[in-house]
Amino acid sequence: MLNLPDAPAIDDATHVHSGKVRDLYRIESGEHAGRLLMVASDRISAYDFVLETTIPDKGEILTRMSLWWFEQLADLVPNHVVSTDVPDVVRGRAVICEDLEMFPVECVARGYLAGSGLADYRATGRVCGVPLPDGLEDGSRLPEPIFTPASKADLGDHDENVSFDAVVDTVGAQVAATLRELTLAVYSRAEEVARGRGLLLADTKLEFGHSGDRIVLADEVLTPDSSRFWPADQWQPGRTQPAFDKQLVRDWLTGPESGWDRASGDAPPPLPERVVELTRSRYVEAYERLTGRTW
Ligand code: ATP
Ligand code: MG
Repeated sequence: MLNLPDAPAIDDATHVHSGKVRDLYRIESGEHAGRLLMVASDRISAYDFVLETTIPDKGEILTRMSLWWFEQLADLVPNHVVSTDVPDVVRGRAVICEDLEMFPVECVARGYLAGSGLADYRATGRVCGVPLPDGLEDGSRLPEPIFTPASKADLGDHDENVSFDAVVDTVGAQVAATLRELTLAVYSRAEEVARGRGLLLADTKLEFGHSGDRIVLADEVLTPDSSRFWPADQWQPGRTQPAFDKQLVRDWLTGPESGWDRASGDAPPPLPERVVELTRSRYVEAYERLTGRTW
């Protein structure tokens, strides 16, 4: 089970939820009363564990990256961000956002085959019920981007790929169609932006919520935690692609040095300083390459 550190106390805000990475608070008074304060911590998760080691600046990097993307997507879909004028203790790593009713669906778009998509394809020739041509490999580009939703698991559980019909059963046909359309539109835009910066966007996971009839893009978007970005010049289907995500952390945890047995169910050991520093620099590099800004 997950063992999360206590969320920091924040004046005038009540802690309402902690996920693996973010802490959510309800703002109690003032201009933003009733809205949420979403704080991105420096926590990192791997293999469904929140590690005891944190990655310095990660929360701030992911927050800034998401804000940058929300701007790039603003003409496609409304987003949940209301303000970045947040309390000093969380400045830079938090946003004030609309308190939405979240759809219990992880909205994933894939343009390339990797991760659970690859595993499903190898087992069944399909991903989330979408049939794919024969002969695809690890990292292959798909004939066209596809919507491959997953059910939102409870904290500590795996998200599970589901068919589009399962999404229809959960949220209704009309909302399901809108979620698919928006997810693919966001993917296409982001893929184009990333490609212009020498990165392939293999896949991405979005979360949407609603306030009445209005469907709103929420959570974080298009960060290395929610998406696979690959350096375009190193793309070579048929092997695992080098990525801007936690691959380094996963490799170290499952490698000989960590002494950790994934099958044991035990919590992973702390990360060595070198892995922390390299991981931090990967997040910084992703931010800098995508946004063109210096960290
Ligand atoms: P979860 O907590 O759902 O198991 P997680 O570990 O990925 O998943 P985090 O990403 O750390 O969670 O926390 C963010 C949480 O906030 C998610 O549960 C997400 O659905 C929720 N969330 C994001 N934006 C909003 C919003 N605008 N209104 C309500 N909830 C939101
Ligand atoms: Mg999340």
